[in-house]
Amino acid sequence: MLSAAPLDNPPSARIAGAGPGDGGPSNAASEVLRAARSALTAPDSTTLRFPTDNPPPPRAAKLRNWLTPRLALPAGPLANRTPGTGALMYHRFADPVSGLPEPTWNVPPALLRTQLAGLLSRGYRAVRLEEVLDRIAAGEPADPKSFVVTIDDGYLNNLTQGLPIFEELRVPVTLFVATGYVGTPCPYPFDDWAGKGHPHAPRESWAAMNRGELRRFAESEFVSLGVHTHTHQDFRGRPDLFAADLAESCRVLRSGFGIERPAFAFPYGTRQRGFSGGELKAAVARTPVSCALTTEDERIRADSDRFDLGRFTATSADTAATLAAKLDGRFGALKRALHRNHRSTPTASTAAAKPCGGRS
Ligand SMILES: [Zn+2]
Repeated sequence: MLSAAPLDNPPSARIAGAGPGDGGPSNAASEVLRAARSALTAPDSTTLRFPTDNPPPPRAAKLRNWLTPRLALPAGPLANRTPGTGALMYHRFADPVSGLPEPTWNVPPALLRTQLAGLLSRGYRAVRLEEVLDRIAAGEPADPKSFVVTIDDGYLNNLTQGLPIFEELRVPVTLFVATGYVGTPCPYPFDDWAGKGHPHAPRESWAAMNRGELRRFAESEFVSLGVHTHTHQDFRGRPDLFAADLAESCRVLRSGFGIERPAFAFPYGTRQRGFSGGELKAAVARTPVSCALTTEDERIRADSDRFDLGRFTATSADTAATLAAKLDGRFGALKRALHRNHRSTPTASTAAAKPCGGRS
């Protein structure tokens, strides 16, 4: 299903070639596109903007990730009884490294397998995101025992550690790729794991897939590719730049993989903090994506806004039981009942990433 055309964008987040008839903005937006190109034609990632606002304290985040889904386990009456499908969000599949901080946004491979196998043994059915979108389009109620698996960014461990598990368990996944970093020898500039790039950290624990690896991943019958913007920046207050950047990521997937209307996931993703919804959601409509997923703890229902679909973060604190509580609506309902200001967003720790010296 994949074309032979290579991904043609270097990891320096250059934007080029997006334009009328090429998935980019119209002529009327040419001025905006020029400005966006200028902003994105950076010699390295130091000029890109990543979020700095209030990353959660690690200890508090760990306790919260452990406690909240367990509080939801007996919260049956709080469950949303409206039929809906839950989407899970993963990022990294790596084992902890002795002497280094625990990897962030990570589910170790063995736990990933336990989580997914446990859901399947509980009667949940893993379905493709496209199947859920088709149901929405047809106005059909979602199967409450179905769930969707999504992955963000494009770490190499998705291929080396995740894919064998997805294929063994026959679980389809959608990977939202930050296309500007495919093949970069550097860690993602937005990766908040202090161990990234460390000599003792296996390369697969932090590195992005290169184009050949991404192609191998995408060739699996269980994998769909979507976009996650090109440069994965903090686009709040910059909807025109966001639209141009997203259009560029669509162009990369079209030229490299023949995908015309990819699914999309907002970087950082929370509506409350402005990473999705509002002017960014409006800007999505100017691009060729088929849908947009956030990081709001909401299930996808027949009446859901196609460009404002929720997802549940799967963490290393989750068991199959707590994931089931997330998928069936108990978790989100409990959080809303408690008026918690919960963040399920990867917040990068640096405003300007340090230049990478070409580590490979
Ligand atoms: Zn991301």
